[in-house]
Amino acid sequence: MKHTGSCHCGAIKFEIECPDEIEVEDCNCSICSKSGYLHLILPLSKFKLLEGVENLSTYTFGSGIAKHIFCKTCGIKPFYTPRSNPDGIDINLRCLDTKLSKINIVKFDGQEWEKNAHILAHKSKH
Ligand SMILES: [Zn+2]
Repeated sequence: MKHTGSCHCGAIKFEIECPDEIEVEDCNCSICSKSGYLHLILPLSKFKLLEGVENLSTYTFGSGIAKHIFCKTCGIKPFYTPRSNPDGIDINLRCLDTKLSKINIVKFDGQEWEKNAHILAHKSKH
């Protein structure tokens, strides 16, 4: 199924393709616990930026591998490049325009990232 999403002000618009039934991670790491991000990790080929390339800003910290992308205007983070799958894309479920019905929310212990990263490592591969 194809779905569209956006930031709050609408400058950034994107499209994804994902299965009807999805698993998303609710992560408790330092940045996700503050933003309430729900992670839908997909292969990069399932993502298309439709509008707003000029409005993307990037924040990094720690290892610098994750590229935390946010809208320069409204500050919302609709997607980013995750450290667990740097060749994939991590979509913020909360930024999709459509409500998906079959969502399995899984707790991810990002405070112990090194120990748990392998759980996510396959997500950008299929
Ligand atoms: Zn915005």
